[in-house]
Amino acid sequence: MKYYSTNKDAPMASLKRAVIKGLAGDKGLYMPENIDLLKDFVIGEMKDMSFREIACTVAEALFGDDVDMDILHQIVADTLSFDTPVVHLHDNIYCLELFHGPTLAFKDVGARFMARLLAYFIDKEGVKDVNVLVATSGDTGSAVANGFLGVDGIRVYVLYPKGKVSPIQECQFTTLGQNITALEIDGTFDDCQALVKAAFMDEEMNEHSKLTSANSINIARFLPQSFYYFYAYAQLDKIGKADQLLISVPSGNLGNLTAGLFAHWMGLPVKRFIAANNLNDVFFQYLQTGAYTPRPSISTPANAMDVGDPSNFARILDLFSIYPNPYASICKRISGHRYGNSDIASAMRSVYRQYGYILDPHGACGYQALVDDAPAKNESGLFLETAHPAKFKQTVDDILGIDIEIPAKLQAFLQGEKQSIPLGKDFAGFKNYFLRQ
Ligand SMILES: *Cc1c(COP(=O)(O)O)cnc(C)c1O
Repeated sequence: MKYYSTNKDAPMASLKRAVIKGLAGDKGLYMPENIDLLKDFVIGEMKDMSFREIACTVAEALFGDDVDMDILHQIVADTLSFDTPVVHLHDNIYCLELFHGPTLAFKDVGARFMARLLAYFIDKEGVKDVNVLVATSGDTGSAVANGFLGVDGIRVYVLYPKGKVSPIQECQFTTLGQNITALEIDGTFDDCQALVKAAFMDEEMNEHSKLTSANSINIARFLPQSFYYFYAYAQLDKIGKADQLLISVPSGNLGNLTAGLFAHWMGLPVKRFIAANNLNDVFFQYLQTGAYTPRPSISTPANAMDVGDPSNFARILDLFSIYPNPYASICKRISGHRYGNSDIASAMRSVYRQYGYILDPHGACGYQALVDDAPAKNESGLFLETAHPAKFKQTVDDILGIDIEIPAKLQAFLQGEKQSIPLGKDFAGFKNYFLRQ
């Protein structure tokens, strides 16, 4: 399979090149040229398959041309050492729990897959010393750092906004040591993302060492997220609830939603996607007006969605560019909602009081968007619970008046000693630091 750039001004790339480079030379995002449709009967058979078997089927369609089959299956098996169960919340509302991985957030899936695929290419090609740069608003950093921890030949730099990630999130990437370096940037997530993008465009930095990105701009990070859409569908299909499916996705950089759209493009029957935004509602505004107006992000309790200029918007536009009126087609396929901080708190309280279920602030946006989209009686609604609520302990405790238990997996991170390097948000300072490494 070849990959083209959304800006259409860079040469086509192989999977290996797209994964190692991250961003195309024209600053566009890589897109797979043509993906095999999965046949209806294959999707129908998934209800009797395990998560790994389903993921292998999807991975073959996506990466089968470029990676040997047994290696691909091994990468999938190593990635999915945990389950992503669908739980029934009430009426026709279901929750896809994506937080059972090592860092308790959905990004574990993409991060672990990418680490293993990159390690395979590095090993096969004898490439040495790849540097992974990743900007995080909280959850990406921990998933990527833990996914890449101890992988030979790869150094990871996590750029995060000072004071804007929760203490539990922070310790998940600042206490690891080994091949992981945390850079504490005096700025916002957008500043961190801008630094990473600028680094890819900087000749000197690229000459100094091989650079790649583990943000959802990287094809190997976001595409594997389509696995659990198929698995969720299979679980609902098994109980006869998958026919008229609405899926609500708490959205920031739009990688997760884009992965869902790819699953749909590959043949997964989804009636409508719902994009749930917090106060950073650039995509919601686009759906309302047709105008895409990026603006600086603001801090909210759902901090992994605090994104003012979502990278994967370019991929969504590109996916729909085959239609005569892309905007109308996007609106037909995706509806949108946005929630203020107090809406998030009331959704969390109401679900806790009525159903005894603890939502995290991101999942709360997804839940409320689904309920407000009001799935009809014959439809099923699924929202993605993207992180474990204990990752946001302070917020969740304050809103619900509880003392949520911290799972053992998280507890282990809290024991370590924080190590990070403070840097300003100016590119010159960052570059200077990097070139001295
Ligand atoms: C990253 C993240 C999101 C947003 O996902 P995108 O792919 O960036 O849209 C939502 N919730 C949580 C918990 C996250 O970590």
